[in-house]
Amino acid sequence: MTWRRPTDRRLGAMTRDTDVDVVIVGAGYVGIYAVHRLRDQLGLSVLAFDSAGDVGGTWYWNQYPGARCDIESVHYSYSFSEELQREWRWSERYAAQPEILAYLNHVADRFDVRRSMRFRTRITSIVWDDDAVHWRVGTDDGAVTTARFVMSGAGNVSLPKKPEFPGMEDFRGEVYATHRWPHEGADLRGKRVGVIGTGASGIQLIPVIAGEVEHLTVFQRTPNYASPLRNRPLTDDEYDEVVANYRDIRTAARQNFMGITADPARPSAKGASEEERREVYDHYYQRGGFHLLISSYQDLLFDPESNETLAQYVRDRIAERVEDPAVAELLSPTDHPYGTKRVPMETNYYETFNRDNVTLVDVRSAPIERVTETGIRVGGTDHELDVIVSAMGFDAFTGALLDMGVVGRGGLSLREKWADGPRTYLGIAAQGFPNFFMITGPQSAVALYNNPSAIEDHVEFASDAIKHTLDHGLDTIEATSDAESGWVRTVEEMAQTSLFPRARSWYMGANIPGKPISPMLYLGGAPAYRQICADVVEGGYHGFDLSSTSALVG
Ligand code: NAP
Repeated sequence: MTWRRPTDRRLGAMTRDTDVDVVIVGAGYVGIYAVHRLRDQLGLSVLAFDSAGDVGGTWYWNQYPGARCDIESVHYSYSFSEELQREWRWSERYAAQPEILAYLNHVADRFDVRRSMRFRTRITSIVWDDDAVHWRVGTDDGAVTTARFVMSGAGNVSLPKKPEFPGMEDFRGEVYATHRWPHEGADLRGKRVGVIGTGASGIQLIPVIAGEVEHLTVFQRTPNYASPLRNRPLTDDEYDEVVANYRDIRTAARQNFMGITADPARPSAKGASEEERREVYDHYYQRGGFHLLISSYQDLLFDPESNETLAQYVRDRIAERVEDPAVAELLSPTDHPYGTKRVPMETNYYETFNRDNVTLVDVRSAPIERVTETGIRVGGTDHELDVIVSAMGFDAFTGALLDMGVVGRGGLSLREKWADGPRTYLGIAAQGFPNFFMITGPQSAVALYNNPSAIEDHVEFASDAIKHTLDHGLDTIEATSDAESGWVRTVEEMAQTSLFPRARSWYMGANIPGKPISPMLYLGGAPAYRQICADVVEGGYHGFDLSSTSALVG
């Protein structure tokens, strides 16, 4: 029997027991591009699932006030279509969530991807059938979809951290979470609101709601080195220039560690004079965003003394911006180097603590004891609240993948395989899980690499691998055990040469109680990672086993 490519079908009409070439997980940046690439460019049949009601992924769910991207909009977008790039006009330097969601809806309409997507449908199992040489994908509507390949865009920060406080069910007020903000909005006017969590989500939300609530209580466990975003409208001239030079801008961005255009950083912070450092840090603090980290000095993430110069610089700015020295001190991190947790980008965050209606509660020295009927108890003190907002983060990188019930060859689940931390090849494949691609999976160059660009790279790598497999009459493509072990070693060694292990962050899996501590990302930067992937392809998918089964190839 020879492999025959099923013809594309009207997927919207099908409800049960479908067979497609590729099942795609998610309808965010990954799902939208994957449908277009696999279906429209490679002629494969595809079906994408998302538990959300429409496209958008993270930008569908995280509709909390203040949500916006921390990468410049002109980079935080697809580059695969020149026409798309030209026709979408970003209004701000850093787009807010409604604009990003509108953009993703526009892309979905433009490429007509929704007809290959099933919404409000959660994947409950993805099980490899060795005899049939395909995946069986179960969904919560009871349907089973079989697929030769699976491409997962389940999201790296999509599965929320579980609530940890007793008494949540006793609380008589309203409870919201940044990651599931009601789409109709939440009326916080005149209410006593408590926010738990001061990561990127909390730091975006807090200044925006402080002006409308009666009182805001911020429960902070660990302060962050929040740095100014410096958002502003994009002028017509600026945008025209971007559009005229988009191709060059994208090329330059892909050569940068983070996948954005940035100034070349100087070699060493500790090697520079104090005056020079001050000038450089002032310049990039003023410029905003990640430029303070990536355009200033090259050794900030590797040399503790160099890092401390920037950490102290940011603490000094906090001390200038916060009127009460005791509050400023509480807001100043000392437990981790700058940038070893993803730096939250802020607008008026520190000034918010100068308001009379805002209180900062330190839940490091005395943790939250419990939620009561009327608020939150910390160190024996009851903080009376009408509303509790959770901004406590995610079971990042591995959480959503493990939550889907993935079972590979020989009945081995991904959860069992990763019991001591993720093991992948290039962060995109895992031995024992043939024809399964994790887009921007754990141990890939993700989180520090502009997400839409990282996603495009991976979708292209995975779809080219699928095409290669099919074009050669083969059935499976699977990472080898050796390649996987080598990659895990590379990722770990790289992490050890950096300062990242010094922070208890989601980059290391350290934000979830009981989760194995292990580096979740490849730290060599986007250009090195892209080169490695290109070499793998050039070498005929070096590190992958490509095989056919006698049952399928005759
Ligand atoms: P996060 O960075 O993990 O922050 C979670 C916060 O909740 C931390 O302050 C954490 O304190 C606190 N927390 C967790 N458990 C707690 C407990 N039991 N008691 C008290 N406090 C507790 O999560 P996030 O803010 O949602 O951001 C996650 C990532 O999503 C970001 O790093 C970013 O990549 C992405 N994101 C991006 C943007 C953007 O700008 N585009 C916006 C939002 C999110 P500890 O630090 O002590 O654990």
